[in-house]
Amino acid sequence: MNKKILQDYTGEELSKIITPAFRVKQIKSWVYHHHALSFDEMQNLPKEMRVKLADEFTLTPLKTLMMQESKDGSRKYLFELNDGHTIEAVLLMMRDEQYHEDGGLKHQKRYTVCISSQVGCKVGCAFCLTAKGGFVRNLTAGEIVSQLTMIKKDNAIDANRRVNIVYMGMGEPLDNLDNVTKAIKIFADPDGLSISPNRQTVSTSGLSSKIEKLGLMDLGINLAISLHAVDDELRERLMPINKAYNIESIIKAVKNFPINARKRVMFEYLVIKNINDDISAAKKLLKLLDGIKAKVNLIYFNPYGGTEFKRPESQDIIRFQEYLTQRGLLCTIRESKGIDISAACGQLREQEVSNKDSNHAKLR
Ligand code: SAH
Ligand code: SF4
Repeated sequence: MNKKILQDYTGEELSKIITPAFRVKQIKSWVYHHHALSFDEMQNLPKEMRVKLADEFTLTPLKTLMMQESKDGSRKYLFELNDGHTIEAVLLMMRDEQYHEDGGLKHQKRYTVCISSQVGCKVGCAFCLTAKGGFVRNLTAGEIVSQLTMIKKDNAIDANRRVNIVYMGMGEPLDNLDNVTKAIKIFADPDGLSISPNRQTVSTSGLSSKIEKLGLMDLGINLAISLHAVDDELRERLMPINKAYNIESIIKAVKNFPINARKRVMFEYLVIKNINDDISAAKKLLKLLDGIKAKVNLIYFNPYGGTEFKRPESQDIIRFQEYLTQRGLLCTIRESKGIDISAACGQLREQEVSNKDSNHAKLR
């Protein structure tokens, strides 16, 4: 019999199955603060309750198959689901420099975890390795949430440590809206991981109708749009989804989306050599985002074997950035973190399939 995944359930749902209520609180603490992997560890629960729960539920929807660490400190995980499919998640560590009151410099690690929402993806972007394997299935809320708990456990990240979540791994989160919104709520549970929606960012290829729907839920989530092109013709070539949802419809949906007063909508722009790296594109982008509280993130295209696309020249990407910042549009450049471990989505999984004995890999 297939057991149910406990992490698929919100606190509210668990309270309907498990009574009295304080037991739910204890279980959530074991799972989300102590990263328990079995009910046996839950020593403050009565024995027969532990046995009954273990009969019905599993706490381990994921198994770590592989972990690779990059020179920049990011760690990429390949997880196996209970049905044998694999997904990726990445722990990114940014070093923040903060000054103590006494003037001394304090280094603080800021954690961001990039998680997957589907096995494969239906959207089929021309530049994306995840797309190459087609779509397999949606992840459940518990499979989404467990990517974070597995990573927290493996890196001994303290329960109270601030962690940000970006839905920028494999898959299109808005194509799995029900499970993703459930995961957003489970992450936010104050008795659990306590990661408020304003520390979670959903990245989408631009399913306008779903952006509208997510906006109406008013969860307080941050939004990132994978734009990558400023005219419909090129965007259709790079992202076939643009035939269904064109640039205008995306901009309209973004304008209707409730954004936290201190936040901006992020527009991701994957820069590909000789395709979308010219100044005329920057000019159009500036015009397109007029009237939106936006920030632009320019991403170096990360090439892989068999792709027709090329990594852009640094001077071109910098010129693009300067054009925007000089005209008042906030714009950063993102070197694909962990470039030496192929950190762009789908690349580790592909490598695992084609080269099971990678000697850079640390097998677990
Ligand atoms: N499906 C969602 C979220 C996952 S993709 C979306 O498209 O927004 C997350 C990001 O990875 C996207 O912005 C995508 O452009 C980027 N990406 C895909 N392939 C890449 C590559 N080869 N190099 C660099 N970034 C890549
Ligand atoms: Fe899917 Fe995003 Fe890859 Fe496009 S870039 S195929 S939407 S995962």
